[in-house]
Amino acid sequence: MTTTPAHLSELSADDLAARLTTVQAEYEALKAGGLKLDLTRGKPGADQLDLSNGLLGLPTGYRDRSGTDLRNYGGLDGLVELREIFADLLGVDVANVVCGGNSSLTIMHQVLSAMLLKGGPDSPRPWSQEPVVKFICPVPGYDRHFTMLAELGIEMVSVPMNADGPDVVAVRALVAEDPSIKGMWIVPTYANPTGAVCSTAVAADLMAMDTAAPDFRIFWDNAYAVHHLTEEETKSADALGLAAVSGHPNRPLIFASTSKISLAGAGVAALAASSENIAWYLARLGFASIGPDKLNHLRHVEFFGDANGVRAHMRKHRELIAPKFAAVEAALSGRLTGLGIAEWTVPTGGYFVNLDVVDGTASRVISLAKEAGIALTAAGSAFPYGNDPFDRNIRLAPTFPVLAEVEAAMAGVAVCVELAALESFTSA
Ligand code: PLP
Repeated sequence: MTTTPAHLSELSADDLAARLTTVQAEYEALKAGGLKLDLTRGKPGADQLDLSNGLLGLPTGYRDRSGTDLRNYGGLDGLVELREIFADLLGVDVANVVCGGNSSLTIMHQVLSAMLLKGGPDSPRPWSQEPVVKFICPVPGYDRHFTMLAELGIEMVSVPMNADGPDVVAVRALVAEDPSIKGMWIVPTYANPTGAVCSTAVAADLMAMDTAAPDFRIFWDNAYAVHHLTEEETKSADALGLAAVSGHPNRPLIFASTSKISLAGAGVAALAASSENIAWYLARLGFASIGPDKLNHLRHVEFFGDANGVRAHMRKHRELIAPKFAAVEAALSGRLTGLGIAEWTVPTGGYFVNLDVVDGTASRVISLAKEAGIALTAAGSAFPYGNDPFDRNIRLAPTFPVLAEVEAAMAGVAVCVELAALESFTSA
């Protein structure tokens, strides 16, 4: 028979003090181990990159199927054969997809910059001519989304990220009243960092809601659309379709890339949107480029063949990284279940585990881990302005280290979580 351990907060002062001494000794032993481990960034591991080594010998040709010489300038919207693959994966028409360089973040930055300088199809004026521009940011979220907005002078308003997507009641109330709210982020499938999947019901509400700003945009960053960790291959809500039926076809801008499918530094990024948005984007892009790297597009087409080739490839990624996620879960539940000092996600896809610890202790956990040689993402990084109001959130990224390192790092993190909680309870 197993017994549930007592919640630490319910222990007597003497029991807490005794337990603190024990865990402090464990922590000293951890420190003496001289670890050098890193769970900070959601990068693919070397074994994942090896899956795409075939790309290094491609392309074998340099013409598209209509015979165009891809070595030359031109083709601003990208190679149609690759656009077809993205269209299939994202569930949109090929006419609504363009393929660009290697980074979807760059496309997001281009779109934001163009909205600020020029305005979009529905803008009364460029965003930069508004007294203030704000974005809604579901939290916890992706740090680079937030730092991009800060860099561009766009203010951030947080709303909770729930298990089925952003808190739509909170979003609706904000956008209905405030015309300076021009957009919002969402990572709809396997969100960074919670792994949440936006339900069709929430997506439909977001696409249909009334907004005070006529040019409100949903930056639908589907970076993890096909990054399943289980056999259940969740399909993303149909953002473009839902927006079109609710009369706001220009609202969503879908971003994606092969960064965590092929090679993180040498993949291909895509934008999918309404015909009007695509025409607007290409018109802006035409001043910045005479065409993308179509040979990179072609080698991806030769390598994957079609969308099913991508799906099969992602199953190989899954085989490599699912055990690392299982190791995170085993370490956390093995040590912390029942203690009432931590909650964490068990994602079914994506690249992260979201760990919430006792309020006020996340920075302490991160600094304890650092002293023990385990690098964790900086406290507060999943929040706008780096400010976690409860100092409770920690993002874990287990894909890059090898499995044994994930196991060692997570055993150490669990010790640090408990030590920080005990310190907090005994100092009260
Ligand atoms: N969007 C999200 C949600 C991410 O987590 C990441 C990488 O971690 C990116 C975008 C980066 O995309 P890209 O490599 O295409 O710029």
